[in-house]
Amino acid sequence: MKMIKQLREEVNKCQKCSLYKDKTKYVFGEGSDTADIMFIGEAPGAQEDKTGVPFCGRSGEILNELLESIHLNRGDIFICNILKCRPSQNRNPRPNEITACTPFLDKQIEMINPNIICCLGNFATKFVMEKFGLHNKVDGISKLHGKVFKISLLTGVLKIVPLYHPAVATYNPDMKRFMLEDIKLLK
Ligand code: URA
Repeated sequence: MKMIKQLREEVNKCQKCSLYKDKTKYVFGEGSDTADIMFIGEAPGAQEDKTGVPFCGRSGEILNELLESIHLNRGDIFICNILKCRPSQNRNPRPNEITACTPFLDKQIEMINPNIICCLGNFATKFVMEKFGLHNKVDGISKLHGKVFKISLLTGVLKIVPLYHPAVATYNPDMKRFMLEDIKLLK
């Protein structure tokens, strides 16, 4: 889609916060521009920074496993992040970085217009829930994972699904069974 291509070009020139200085590649996002389901993560890691592809490292392997478990292909969905550049040492995104970068995410959501947004981890969950007016329901991901929040929009009903970030299973493999259970919601 032309608009998405233009937005990618805008992202590829961004200097709105200092993260662009240390990045190798901007990580815009990938998948279907007309996807029904959008996955939103936190920020690129080392592998993503090298390749420009979201979720292509260890967390990506877990995400692929979760998607495969419900027979979803990455080409059927759209995957992106709150931040388009890697924060050094994979530290948490800072408020000024989120403020600078999320107008791009707002446009991605508007252009793709998904029916379902899966928020991977705390940062994506907080941003998306607040964006859609659910400030008073925001909580930690251990409380919200696997719940579905329905929002009535002029364009239809949007479902917001907070999920554990796939990285959780890289340092706590026991968590994967909860993640496999939660992802079944998308079936
Ligand atoms: N973690 C994220 O949140 N996003 C990626 O793209 C990779 C790891």
